[in-house]
Amino acid sequence: MNQLAYSLGPLFLASTNPGKLREFRDAARGFNIVVESVPELCALPHCIEDGDTFEANARKKALHYAALVHGPVFADDSGICVDALGGAPGVYSARFSGAEASDEENNQKLVAELRGSDGTWHDSAAHYVCVIVLAEGSEVLRVVEGRADGRIVYPPRGSGGFGYDPYFFYPPLGKTFAELAPHEKFAVSHRGIAFRKFLKSLRQASC
Ligand code: IMP
Repeated sequence: MNQLAYSLGPLFLASTNPGKLREFRDAARGFNIVVESVPELCALPHCIEDGDTFEANARKKALHYAALVHGPVFADDSGICVDALGGAPGVYSARFSGAEASDEENNQKLVAELRGSDGTWHDSAAHYVCVIVLAEGSEVLRVVEGRADGRIVYPPRGSGGFGYDPYFFYPPLGKTFAELAPHEKFAVSHRGIAFRKFLKSLRQASC
């Protein structure tokens, strides 16, 4: 299918996260693209994210919901990869310390794993990744990736963002992601980079 239906109506986001919806919606407005949550997402069969890669999970989610609603659906999958942990937690970022783990529990595990057996702290290089996939019906129309490089620091700094942000120091701005205002974070984050790539790819297709 070459014709992108987004020019006729909204792009549906396969997420119930209000923060993500707000960020994506605000960025898309500048491209004259309307973003809405998949209608009645919570009432639809749940998608199990059991892929080995961010792309596999984003593809699975986008195709799952695209089969259930009429129109183009996009999904993102993201996480943090820490060099000193061999790339972990990666796709397991949300459940690093177990299913249903809170951000605080995941952060405690991160700190415990990076602390040496003698209690000393060593920063580690790390990067966030976000993959966005657009699907319609049974077809994948776009796959884009964004990445933000930094390092894991201790003690944590800042109260913004979510998840691992207080520990993720971003050298170009000299701050952790949790010390950035939401629009500052979206300007440099893996998700912001991926989403702007995604929007540009849609605009190019509609020219
Ligand atoms: P998801 O893509 O929303 O499923 O995110 C997976 C997990 O990755 C989250 O639960 C967080 O632990 C982590 N994560 C992804 N993006 C970010 C971010 O921008 N800041 C902090 N943590 C993040």
